[in-house]
Amino acid sequence: MHSIDNRQSTIGNPQWLAERVTHSPEETVLFGREMAEYFRPPCLVLLEGDLGAGKTTLVKGIVAGLGVASEDDVTSPSFTLVHEYGSAASVYHADLYRIEGARDLATLGLEDLSSQAATVLIEWGEKLGDNAPIPCIKIRMEHLGSDDRRILIERVEA
Ligand code: ADP
Ligand code: MG
Repeated sequence: MHSIDNRQSTIGNPQWLAERVTHSPEETVLFGREMAEYFRPPCLVLLEGDLGAGKTTLVKGIVAGLGVASEDDVTSPSFTLVHEYGSAASVYHADLYRIEGARDLATLGLEDLSSQAATVLIEWGEKLGDNAPIPCIKIRMEHLGSDDRRILIERVEA
């Protein structure tokens, strides 16, 4: 079985690779679109932050930016666990909020990702715990108050 581990980031060093504060959901969606232009699959993105921090909103922009669905088609997979976008199932969007304990990607049915050149977006990525594969990037979102959100992006080297 191929492993998703040790994926190298191929996103280079874009300017957004640090911190951004957005002031509306629309701005967060636009930021997601901007980021997506730099993604070169296979690419794993772990999203962390409390409920309402804006993880799904950012994913809407990323998925739209990848050109596989419109932002309105992207909904939270908190009950369904995993959504697939794109005709070749090239983009996966998962939400581990309801998962108890640490899980690895294999239990999500995402084992074959490395052979698919997929982009994988995982909300509550911290729930992968010690099973976390090394991600391309880790995104942490914080609710600053009203419609302000801080978005911290960190590239994680393999
Ligand atoms: P999460 O997936 O982290 O639980 P969601 O993206 O589902 O969060 O929800 C974020 C909520 O906050 C949405 O209702 C969204 O409209 C609202 N919101 C307000 N301001 C922002 C912002 N700057 N960025 C993202 N979402 C925002
Ligand atoms: Mg969400």
